[in-house]
Amino acid sequence: PPALRVPEADDVAGWWPRLHAGSEKYNRGVVGIATGSHTYPGAAVLSTAGALAGPTGMVRYAGTARAEVLAAHPSVVAADSVAGSGRVQAWLCGSGIGTDASARTALRGVLATDLPVVLDADALGMLVDGSEADRLRDRDAPLIITPHDREFARLAGEPGPDRVAAALKLASWMNAVVLLKGDRTIVAAPDGTAWANPTGTPALATGGTGDVLAGLLASLLAAGVEATRAAVSAAYLHGLAGRIAAERGPVTAADVALALREAVASTVP
Ligand code: AMP
Ligand code: MG
Repeated sequence: PPALRVPEADDVAGWWPRLHAGSEKYNRGVVGIATGSHTYPGAAVLSTAGALAGPTGMVRYAGTARAEVLAAHPSVVAADSVAGSGRVQAWLCGSGIGTDASARTALRGVLATDLPVVLDADALGMLVDGSEADRLRDRDAPLIITPHDREFARLAGEPGPDRVAAALKLASWMNAVVLLKGDRTIVAAPDGTAWANPTGTPALATGGTGDVLAGLLASLLAAGVEATRAAVSAAYLHGLAGRIAAERGPVTAADVALALREAVASTVP
């Protein structure tokens, strides 16, 4: 069986982009977030919060929860649509976006780019239901999917007891990095490498935490971090943030997003 690697803080620190005198908001990376809906505006707020904790210099939001996102995060730049968002270097699509016509347009829009893409939640559901999966074959840029067990089951059947093997099989089949969420999150790459996340806490088992993770992951990609490293780093820091938040009492997803700053500060010297 393939070796299962476990990342250490030093790995995550080594992969995290550093600031330097020549840092500039655009050269730090621009992340595009296509999440949330009128029904689930909170998913947009939480995924942009995750992205804002990442290394990029700019977070762009394209979706229907623009008012809520801007009220929560004044530093986010809103755009009317995915197609109308300039300078973006990686996209997140999914979290709470729904499956209506505008959600499908957003998914098609991100898949039509030649940029790294993270697909989460509803975007994975639309892949199963619609013709969008066909577009994956034409893409060269990295794809990362972030299913929990039920989302994984819709794509590829129940992961079963050997979650590593199941994730690797799907990664190879989709030519995507698979971040299979759970109490021990697995990151599986199409090249056959697999990682098990050592951080985390059951306190993360609350609504919206996955949206925060997806936003952070997209930010790492937009900042130029290689896809498997980005996924391993995001899972590690998200789990650490969950532990930090849990020390203070009952955890909400917004608490996890705030604690991500401390997780980054303590991991990346
Ligand atoms: P989602 O289901 O998309 O909201 O994502 C839930 C997040 O919480 C993922 O990052 C999971 O890894 C994490 N999570 C859920 N349940 C547990 C658990 N029992 N122990 C540790 N992490 C968990
Ligand atoms: Mg989710």
